[in-house]
Amino acid sequence: MGDLEELYNDIIMEHSMNSYNKKHLDSCDFSQMGHNPNCGDEIKLEVKLNGDIIEDMAFSGHGCAISQSSTSVMIDILKGKTIKEAKDIIKTFIEMIKREVKDEKELEKLEEAIAFKNISNMPARVKCALLAWHTMEDLLNEKESSK
Ligand code: ZN
Repeated sequence: MGDLEELYNDIIMEHSMNSYNKKHLDSCDFSQMGHNPNCGDEIKLEVKLNGDIIEDMAFSGHGCAISQSSTSVMIDILKGKTIKEAKDIIKTFIEMIKREVKDEKELEKLEEAIAFKNISNMPARVKCALLAWHTMEDLLNEKESSK
């Protein structure tokens, strides 16, 4: 195993155990449940918006280390971003996992979430890694249609 892969595993481990993002927000504008029946992963995302900016986010739920850490890492990245930026980052993450990214430079915007790149080699875990990102996508889409 290379040093880089070890670093990535550290990021995943760190976020899967006692994530500081695993809590409830005092007030939240939107929430969304996500479920991955293949593995039994369940998460609930809570989002607080300030205009178009994702001011705060948190999650609750349970599941495997990949699903829980992917959720926590996603929250770190999306907090403080605009909805438009968040959608772009989510799209890039999904493309990375599905190996559809042509330009590696695109991945820079994923920050720590690049740690999940090798999940694409483990088909059984792909749904775990994508759960939070698809759930957030649903949340943002529902928000738009509720306008
Ligand atoms: Zn899982």
